[in-house]
Amino acid sequence: MAATKEKRIAWFLRAPGCGLAVVAAPNYEQATVKAAELWGVPWGKIVSQIEVERTAEQKPNVCVECGGVYNYSRDALCERCRNRKRREHEEMRKAAGAYRRREFYRKGKKQ
Ligand SMILES: [Zn+2]
Repeated sequence: MAATKEKRIAWFLRAPGCGLAVVAAPNYEQATVKAAELWGVPWGKIVSQIEVERTAEQKPNVCVECGGVYNYSRDALCERCRNRKRREHEEMRKAAGAYRRREFYRKGKKQ
């Protein structure tokens, strides 16, 4: 068996107004790229605001969210969880503009 072992980590990433993204990637940088894609925001705009909530070892074909076994190992989540997350992100995106403006104002006042 040809062993092309790539370490796969599940990243739980958060950014203001974007919610939680769960992505599988070998390192932080690739994880942030995938998260930005999921959120539908430009990576360069969001990367400085991304926080790592936690990481977990990604086992092949095991969903990190529900623990269910699925048939697509390139993603951290099974299809059911991915679809649920996508709906969450869409709802977050609708509110994101107003949220970011509020956050900006609040942070500005503190300083
Ligand atoms: Zn799942």
